[in-house]
Amino acid sequence: MKVLVINCGSSSIKYELYEAETGQALAKGIVGCIGEKNSFIRQDTRGREIRRQVSVSNHGESFELIFENLTNRQNGVLRDISEISAVGHRAVHGADTFIESTLINEDVIRKLEECILLAPLHNPPNLLGIQESRKILPSIPHVAVFDTAFHQTMPPKTYLYPLPGEYYQSFKVRRYGFHGTSCRYVSQKAASALGKPLEELRMIICHLGNGVTVTAVDGGKSLDTSMGLTPLEGPMMGTRSGDIDAGVIFFLHRQVGLSVDHIDNILNRESGLLAVSTVSNNMEEITEEAKKGNEHCQLAMEMFVYRVKKYIGAYAAALEGLESLVFTAGIGENSPIIRAMICEGLEFLGLKLDKAINKDTLGVERIISSSDSRVSIVVVPTNEELMIFYDTLKVAGLNP
Ligand code: ADP
Repeated sequence: MKVLVINCGSSSIKYELYEAETGQALAKGIVGCIGEKNSFIRQDTRGREIRRQVSVSNHGESFELIFENLTNRQNGVLRDISEISAVGHRAVHGADTFIESTLINEDVIRKLEECILLAPLHNPPNLLGIQESRKILPSIPHVAVFDTAFHQTMPPKTYLYPLPGEYYQSFKVRRYGFHGTSCRYVSQKAASALGKPLEELRMIICHLGNGVTVTAVDGGKSLDTSMGLTPLEGPMMGTRSGDIDAGVIFFLHRQVGLSVDHIDNILNRESGLLAVSTVSNNMEEITEEAKKGNEHCQLAMEMFVYRVKKYIGAYAAALEGLESLVFTAGIGENSPIIRAMICEGLEFLGLKLDKAINKDTLGVERIISSSDSRVSIVVVPTNEELMIFYDTLKVAGLNP
């Protein structure tokens, strides 16, 4: 029995095929630059990687290519696509309509279409992925797993903006949060690494990738999270500004004469690490340049760390205590220097890093706090696809 996990964006489709009985990933791939001159497919099948230029003008053609590759005689892992028993789809924005992973039917598709207003960039490609793959595999269960669902436990005091009520009531303007699938996976893994029940832990999860989310998890439930109506709120990110005074937007519009679309582009694509470092949005490159003495890169690292630290302080207060701080995603898993900078000076919160263990921890699950640290510090590699796979098995009622 096999389960396919799909993450469909506007110009790329990522996919991963799992063996249901063992939870083993059999193949993982991406079709990129869809509709462009340089479209490609890359597939890793048990360590064997193929990459080739292809010509795909839309998502439908890309799905045909994916299924061709999965069933290819030489590099494939399936004899026939009928071996696939269910498909799990990453869905970005489920608004407050979807509080958990859901079996897809016509009614769900209609409700997903209603959510487009809130995520105009992400939800249309997600929907396209669902529709195109259902055309090819119409008679098996398809499951939607939402980035926003985990944060639906937030109480009104954390999810409401202090705005006139009509904007929430009529337009659903509120905080939703993202990276929920990652947070759910990482919180469970961290609790089992610590050998403690999740229900007894107050945890702060720092998902530090290109996008950055800090989340306060109380007994396994999201109490507060740094992203809001859109993924722009929160600490500083790769190309997103994160928190700024909303007045900056009016200033850029009225005094500088920039259009709303231009400001949107600046805040989402031209800010954050990229803007401050003036070099890159990639923390690895920034760290290398900072070591060589580049002052812009040093400042970018300091600002990135400072803004994450402020959230840790805020969420320790919101949780009224803390048992565990967790690092995950590209930077959280792979950058000992950023982790050390974040933890420095937080001994007053009970956080004491083991510097040697931290330095040696790259991309693996490990407790990196010292044995006398009151609060445990843990690195957990995230795996959103695996969580989508587990949810798909459960929601589709498959019993391998
Ligand atoms: P995304 O949000 O796109 O999924 P990732 O979780 O893959 O992003 O994280 C990407 C970030 O992780 C980039 O800034 C990258 O530079 C950073 N990163 C990856 N490896 C390292 C490393 N060894 N040191 C510092 N940063 C790293």
